[in-house]
Amino acid sequence: MKDVIALDIGGTSVKCGLYDESGVLKKKWRVSTNTDGGGMSIFKDIHLSFQKEGIDVSALSGIGVGVPGPVKDGTVHGAVNLGWETVNVPEALKTELKSGVPVYVGNDANVAALGEFSKRGEKVDNMLLITLGTGVGGGIVLNGDIVEGAHGGAGEIGHMSMDPEGPLCSCGGYGCLETYSSATAVKRMANEGVKVNPDSSLATLSYIGGRDVFEHAYKGDALSEAIIDEAAEQLGRAIANVNTTLDLPLILIGGGLAQAGEYLLKKVRGAYQGACFGTSCQAEIKPASLGNDAGMVGAFELVMRRG
Ligand SMILES: [Zn+2]
Repeated sequence: MKDVIALDIGGTSVKCGLYDESGVLKKKWRVSTNTDGGGMSIFKDIHLSFQKEGIDVSALSGIGVGVPGPVKDGTVHGAVNLGWETVNVPEALKTELKSGVPVYVGNDANVAALGEFSKRGEKVDNMLLITLGTGVGGGIVLNGDIVEGAHGGAGEIGHMSMDPEGPLCSCGGYGCLETYSSATAVKRMANEGVKVNPDSSLATLSYIGGRDVFEHAYKGDALSEAIIDEAAEQLGRAIANVNTTLDLPLILIGGGLAQAGEYLLKKVRGAYQGACFGTSCQAEIKPASLGNDAGMVGAFELVMRRG
């Protein structure tokens, strides 16, 4: 049996995993992401880590890679967090490794969706994964494979326009889903909220994090509850908009904010039911299960499904 390497390239580190073809993780390690010089030393650093870990590239059946940017047919069209412009990842990695090993690449959120999909063991072929972190990420699996879109940009649910007069988004637009339902948005709403609600228990904190807002909401703080309600309302409506079009049976919610569990999911389901249409109202909204490993598992799956 040959081995598979899975790489989840992020802005601070590259998560690396060595799997056998049956899906058993044999070892994992991390490489710091060096974005100097247009981020091209990332490939060399990955290669050096292979040598350090004793990886025999000729014994690999493939390398799967998730990257934080739009990916079409293996080419990344800009990854700001890595300092990359247009990069053909298979070509760059194979040149660095001096090997013809097959390399398969996908957008990190899409690849994470494939990872969650592969681990569900549920009888669905189609699903959506939404990750609530610093931003709001999304990945769609249709007929058992990720959807890249015509230009590699499919699944960017975080930048769905919810209100053109809403808050400024990191993308330059206004009122994107991300400006309501990300951890960043929850923190922003809390910091703005305490200025006009000095009686909120949040106002006693010197620093307000996303977790604080949930903890204070559990204890009955009205401002905290209103913030979570807003985040859940916008998310539920966004999912309904996606699913009115796609009629997916399963929506998984992951990322840091999703650690709030059923407290958040119940509100999201309520908002979804208020905005969904027709048969798509039957969709299930459940927690994702792989956490930070979803990207690596998905990168492994890319090799197994495309190789
Ligand atoms: Zn945006």
